[in-house]
This record gives sequence, structure tokens and C-alpha cells, in this order.
Amino acid sequence: MLFYDPRFLEHVSSPMHVERPERLEAIVDRLRQEDLFRDVHAPSPEAVTELRRVHRAAFLEYFEHLSEGVLDPETAVHPETWGIALLAAGAVIQATRDSVAQGAPAVALVRPPGHHAGPDYGGGFCYLNNVAAAAADQVAQGRRVAILDFDAHHGNGTSEIFEDEAAVLYISTHQFGIYPGTGAAEDVGKGEGRGFNVNIPFTAGCGDESFRLAFDQIVAPVVREYKPDLVLVSLGIDAHYRDPLTGLSLSSPGYVDLMTRSAELAHELCGDRFVVALEGGYHLQALSEVYAGVVARMNRRRVDLELTQLLDAKGKGRPAIESTKRAHKEFWNLR
Ligand SMILES: [Zn+2]
Repeated sequence: MLFYDPRFLEHVSSPMHVERPERLEAIVDRLRQEDLFRDVHAPSPEAVTELRRVHRAAFLEYFEHLSEGVLDPETAVHPETWGIALLAAGAVIQATRDSVAQGAPAVALVRPPGHHAGPDYGGGFCYLNNVAAAAADQVAQGRRVAILDFDAHHGNGTSEIFEDEAAVLYISTHQFGIYPGTGAAEDVGKGEGRGFNVNIPFTAGCGDESFRLAFDQIVAPVVREYKPDLVLVSLGIDAHYRDPLTGLSLSSPGYVDLMTRSAELAHELCGDRFVVALEGGYHLQALSEVYAGVVARMNRRRVDLELTQLLDAKGKGRPAIESTKRAHKEFWNLR
């Protein structure tokens, strides 16, 4: 199942902004070329009730009535922004509900992205937290949710929204030290949420082998021990070596492999209740071929990937992985 609406292309924060409509257009064009743009569902914008579970009423009120302004210097608001952001959140909420109901994977092709939007703030190109709203909607039905955030940036918004919540497990791989500056290994959550916030703070250069090790040594064992009812993925393609914004070095096959393993984990533990939502990623070919690869795998197919350089074969991220294991040894059975 795909969730998409052409109105997502009408969001333009500012001219020349890197988070531009062409990102999503490139993904849809490639899916069409591969005959993978099938089973496409239109989202409903009725997400306001669910958004109140993750954002404060005053923030929603402010954003809805702002019309023209900024949430931060790179996150501008125009009259249409609220409606499109609401539709993006609605798409991820609906994708998640349908995935849970049908026991089938879903991909939400949305913009604007969401993982930097917190309880009472937007920023970092994000307005409303799409994935957090979908997770909170499921928690309200009594379900336990694992969120895997493979964007190159730490999902500070998602992390803060669920920092004291045990019904949501948040695991993030990111380049540490770049925007937004959060996401240290030692930040394990607060109160009831201690142990349910897992940060893997990679340094520049980390790529395929580091992500493979992080998945085998942290992501898979923690998620297996947690036993979620569903898995949500915040999938940004800005950890790709061609991405202009960050210094991580995943290849396209590295990304597809990471997502294949994640889907297999959701198959094993959650009966294929598995939802992928687009976050960042600013290189058009990297974005489009990785998403085509991910959707192809869901359809038991493969596509040709061209960006295949292996820049991290040795696992430069081992020290980060060890720091995460140290920070979480009191919470999880980690080798
Ligand atoms: Zn990002």
C-alpha cells in the first residue's frame, strides 16, 4: 500500500529550499517507471484530534492561524502550509491504521517531513510530527509501537514527545553533532520512558557496515525484547553518501538492505504491521532509487541501483555502537 497526494507537491517553504517538491516527484516518477506506483491511497486530512496527542493545543492554534511567518528560519509558513502539513500527518496516520488492520506493509510518501516537530515547536523543515501522531493514535488503541528513525538527523521532536512513554520505543541512528544537536547515547529517556529512547550517535563517514552492525547488535535485539505490535520507520535518505547535507555514507544497497531487515523484523514480530514514512533526503537519485528499492522488496521484486559505492566496509561506527550498548546495558540484553 502506498499513501500519496499530489497536494504534497504544493508545499514550498521558500524558493531554492532543499526540501523541495522535486524530492517527492522524483520518487513517484521512479515508482511509475518501475510499475510500482500501484495500490495508491489518498489520505484524509482529519488528523487534528490525533495531533492533539502529540502537540500542545496552543502550538496547533498558533500554527493554524499564522498564515505567514516562520517556525524557524528554514521552516516558513504560508497560508496553505497548515492544510498540507495536516494532510501529511493524516496520510501517515491512515497508512498506519490500514497496515495494522490488514497486516500488510505501507509506505507514506509525504512532505513536509515531521520528526523535528516537538510538543510545542516545529523546525528543521518540519511542522507537524507525522510519525509521532500515527504512533500516538496506535498507543491510544492500547498498542506498543517501535519507531526506527534512520534519517541522518536525530528526530528530536519524536524523541521529546515520547521521552517519558514506555508504550513507544524510539531508536535513532544519526550523525551526532549536526542539526539539531540532540541524540547522545546517554539520553535514554525519562521516568517511565527510561530505556525506551535508544540513540546511536554516528560520526561522519559511517555507512553500510556501521548500520549493519547497529542493526544486528542493537536494533534487532532491542525490538525483539520489546515485542511491539507494529513498527514505524522514519525513513530519511540523507544518510546516503550522495546527500549534500550530511556526512554519513550509506549506499543505496545499504539502505535497501537496512529496510529489508527492518521489514523482516516486523514480519517476524508484528505480522507485517510495518509503515515507512518519508522524512529527509536531498539527493534526487538517491531518494528515488532507495524508495523504489524499498517498495520493490515489499512486492518481492528488485530494481537496479546505481549508487552502490561501499565507503564504510569496516564499521567506523563501532565506538558509537559500544557507547549505546553501555548506556542501555541496564535496560536490554545486549551482547
Ligand atoms: Zn534529516
